[in-house]
Amino acid sequence: MRSLVMKFGGNALGTVAALTRLLGIVTREAQRWDRVVVVVSALDGVTDRLLEAAQLAQVDNPRGYRRIAANLRSRHFALVDELPLDAPARTALGADIDQLLSQMLDACRAIAKDLNDELLSSASDEVVAVGEQLSAQIIAALLLQHGLRGAAVDSRSLIITDAVHGNANPDLDQTAQRMQDRLLPMLERDIVPVVTGYIGATIDGETTTLGRGGTDYTASVISALLPADALWIWTNVAGMMSADPRELRDARVIAKLSYDEAADLAYFGAKLLHARMIAPLAERQVPLRIKSIFAPDAAGTLVAAPEKSPEAQLKAVTKVLGLSLRRRASGSLAGVNRLVGNTLFKTLGMRSEVMIASQSSGGSFLCLVIPTSIGIDSVDRLQRALQAKMSEYPEKMPWEMEMVSLVTAIGSRLHSAPQLVGQVLGALAGVEILALSLGASHCSLSVVVRQADARQAVDKIHALLLQKRLK
Ligand code: ASP
Ligand code: MG
Repeated sequence: MRSLVMKFGGNALGTVAALTRLLGIVTREAQRWDRVVVVVSALDGVTDRLLEAAQLAQVDNPRGYRRIAANLRSRHFALVDELPLDAPARTALGADIDQLLSQMLDACRAIAKDLNDELLSSASDEVVAVGEQLSAQIIAALLLQHGLRGAAVDSRSLIITDAVHGNANPDLDQTAQRMQDRLLPMLERDIVPVVTGYIGATIDGETTTLGRGGTDYTASVISALLPADALWIWTNVAGMMSADPRELRDARVIAKLSYDEAADLAYFGAKLLHARMIAPLAERQVPLRIKSIFAPDAAGTLVAAPEKSPEAQLKAVTKVLGLSLRRRASGSLAGVNRLVGNTLFKTLGMRSEVMIASQSSGGSFLCLVIPTSIGIDSVDRLQRALQAKMSEYPEKMPWEMEMVSLVTAIGSRLHSAPQLVGQVLGALAGVEILALSLGASHCSLSVVVRQADARQAVDKIHALLLQKRLK
């Protein structure tokens, strides 16, 4: 029994052209594999709009969130109108869309009424969960009309998580049981399940979400528990790249990464993959491929166990935004650590996930770098929260705040290649390094630099990477 899990991200969904490609891909792979599971994100941009709606509900702006619901309605209806579907399928989908959006409005109203924190975050998850439900319904209907037994599966019946709303973690034992009960019987009947990514539920049935980009995580958990013979992630880019291709035109596709390298790459800022998705795959040794819907026959990037003794090699460079706190006079970090910890927890709802590099020689220095999965505005929110806190104790806390970047070189066996590490640092000559660390997994070397220097640091490391590749 060979089984394949395929995840389609928002950037590979959303237009008729993209969905036509999806149909072609799923049809082809359903013939090649015994079992196929499809996991889908919301259509491109939809989750952002839903989060916005939940925020508007918090400030009790019903016109705002209703306008978003109306926009989402026209967008999904327009798509359904253009897709190759017969009239009854179209009518049924229209009813589904309306029903889901009315659930979204109910959840928005609940948020507006009740400002208790706990309820707020669970209602907010209910609002955003609508995006994946909309896309799963549409995609399942599309498959069903074209010779496949597509069926939408609401992952709240499969993925059981803790109660960390907005960034929940699946409970693998509970989830494995649900898969036995609900997913396997479908696969045995040759159904192609179209599972909503990103969303789950607590054991009590409260809706949760797995963090931005969480559909990857859903697909990974399902692949690991099945276990699948492979997981393919479909996107609109050629694979994992050696640098952000929007910033560096000579960024290249990385042919192969180990699980550790891929996890570090995602953790240190490559937004293509959810940072926590690698661990379940690594544990069960499920190979992962990242592929482009525009080049379905190209190999893309393979993430798998490394060969026995790979040579030390640079593979990518990433950049993440952070904040630094600095005190010119001597002084310790005591106190400020607690202040920062409390602020982080309250403002962003994060715990141990913050990457903290600190150094206290001469001027005390503390640097906070925020994982990309927390959301794009989090550095800004944190900065505002810390500023407010610090102004409460001006004389005790003479800290200067500055934006910094964590620039990370990813590669294999960096710990056994002091020469390579030396070359990376040598390439950074002229850039002031505020802090430095070699990752515990031996495949990352991170430097903290001023935000204004970040681009130059990325360029220099990438130039070294290309130069070594050509040799
Ligand atoms: N739709 C969710 C997001 O935009 C999950 C995902 O795309 O993976 O974050
Ligand atoms: Mg993604």
